[in-house]
Amino acid sequence: MDAAHAILRKVFGYDRFRPPQDAVIAALLAGQDALVLMPTGGGKSLCYQVPAMVRPGVGIVVSPLIALMQDQVAALTEAGVRAACLNSTLSADAARQVEAAFARSELDLLYVAPERLLTERFLALLDRTRLALFAIDEAHCVSQWGHDFRPEYIQLSVLAERYPQVPRIALTATADELTRREIVARLALDQAQVFISSFDRPNIRYRITPRRNARDQLLRFIREEHPNDAGIVYCLSRKKVDETAAWLAAQGLTALPYHAGMAAEDRRRHQERFRNEEGVIVVATIAFGMGIDKPDVRFVAHMNLPKSVEAYYQETGRAGRDGLPADAWMVYGLEDVITLRQMLESGEADAERKRIEHHKLEAMLALCEVTTCRREVLLRYFGEQPAGPCGNCDTCLSPPATWDATEAARQALSAVHRTGQRFGVTYLVDVLLGKGDERIRRFGHDKLAVYGLGKALSAADWRGLYRQLIARGLIEVDVEGYGGLRLAEPCRPVLRGEEPLFLRKETTPTRAGKKKTRAAPPVGGGELWEELRALRRRLAAEHDVPPYVIFNDATLAELVAHRPRSLGELADIHGFGEHKLAAYGKPILDLIRDFVASEN
Ligand code: ADP
Ligand code: ZN
Repeated sequence: MDAAHAILRKVFGYDRFRPPQDAVIAALLAGQDALVLMPTGGGKSLCYQVPAMVRPGVGIVVSPLIALMQDQVAALTEAGVRAACLNSTLSADAARQVEAAFARSELDLLYVAPERLLTERFLALLDRTRLALFAIDEAHCVSQWGHDFRPEYIQLSVLAERYPQVPRIALTATADELTRREIVARLALDQAQVFISSFDRPNIRYRITPRRNARDQLLRFIREEHPNDAGIVYCLSRKKVDETAAWLAAQGLTALPYHAGMAAEDRRRHQERFRNEEGVIVVATIAFGMGIDKPDVRFVAHMNLPKSVEAYYQETGRAGRDGLPADAWMVYGLEDVITLRQMLESGEADAERKRIEHHKLEAMLALCEVTTCRREVLLRYFGEQPAGPCGNCDTCLSPPATWDATEAARQALSAVHRTGQRFGVTYLVDVLLGKGDERIRRFGHDKLAVYGLGKALSAADWRGLYRQLIARGLIEVDVEGYGGLRLAEPCRPVLRGEEPLFLRKETTPTRAGKKKTRAAPPVGGGELWEELRALRRRLAAEHDVPPYVIFNDATLAELVAHRPRSLGELADIHGFGEHKLAAYGKPILDLIRDFVASEN
């Protein structure tokens, strides 16, 4: 462990391990297997990088994502570690060179794609070389039920049979019990020590708002809170992605679309720009996901409701990997609920699967409508017991007012019942408001007791109310595709007036008294920050790596705060190991010295 600590300081420039990194490393150094479940940004990489460097031989890292591999190798090389990767982007010649270096044990870490690892040729190479460990990154790819299933991952069990002496470590940020059991079974990790970290991401601020005018809401959020920041905007459809990206670009923002319908080349280019430039916004379907290792994504915005809390958590988790404040922002509306319910019902899945997916959607809706701390709901969903309200989500920061919706809910339910349980929300709201619609007269619904009974509330209020009733499972959405509403069994006590119903009050912002959720403290800013950022851009271009590989925003913030004057002081800043000190120490210190001089 002494050697591990020395590497942590000298190579990575950090002064202590974040638990459970030290325990994981100790297990591997003792020759044991490990299974590590840690949230995104938790620090999984060091868990295998450090022991691979301490143990004799080469550490083999299996990773499904080429972009991720390249980033890791670039970052390690910048830190002075002997790392390389083998994947389909290498020329035959370059691949042969890497293999030769590997065969001579001149590497600390070798990253390989699973399909390459499993070739007889490569296995033969492994047989002849001393191995420090196997690390299986994104281990949830082994799960057939998961969204990232990779068939090659299943064959990785061969490593256990073929190299029983080499410790193996599997890592993932997917938290649920089922996936964990599958990883253990399929990768033969029943002897492994299991390390489960809290999945909390305290630096992410969760915010969910009803949709009014999605584009304006998004634009205001970006302009007011993240004017020059990198971010991801998720939309449900390709069409919406294209429209939203074009619209943001027309407003003067750097926004690029990304979805599976685009040419591979365009997709690659947009992803590269997102990685290599600062302040780029990618507007994407969920196809833009895994492999986004960029640490300084300052916001993730959802324009639609995700299908499950797992999906929401994974997507929002791409914000703030560097630990600095970040926003997970979402608008959602009644249409989302209806669309998702319909998609689910009309899908191909069998009844059992549909039932599970239904529950997942319900949990997601409950998260949206909750009037208490969102983080508590999230963490409980993942089986944790949070200590209390977090103070860093919208409901903690500006607790929503609730109102006694018992009577209004009865009227809304009654409108569904009296009109025969087949009309959509728009029609029902018209009935409640007593609109002189021709259809309403034709069906004789202007004769109903509920006709015009709801004039005390606005159309938006009624829509909000219906959304919440659907979200709470008191109303069901028709499956045939017309979006008609039906009463669901749990509505009975409310309809009979036996059960009071308190709902979230939706504040429609008026021009005068706009109610704003407090913005997260901005990351960075100021002249020195900008100058260091420009220097970082220049160094990144010279070294042909993304800026955050030179140093990330957390390090940048420390530089601004401490203004180191010597290499010794610079060494105390997190993220500066010996190699980076030697490579960039001088230009950074020069810049800070000149800046301080010009200030005086
Ligand atoms: P993950 O793979 O779990 O998403 P990473 O391994 O990319 O996370 O680490 C996330 C960030 O945390 C990186 O910027 C990394 O340098 C930093 N980090 C990891 N371990 C430590 C540590 N012990 N001290 C300080 N920073 C750390
Ligand atoms: Zn909270």
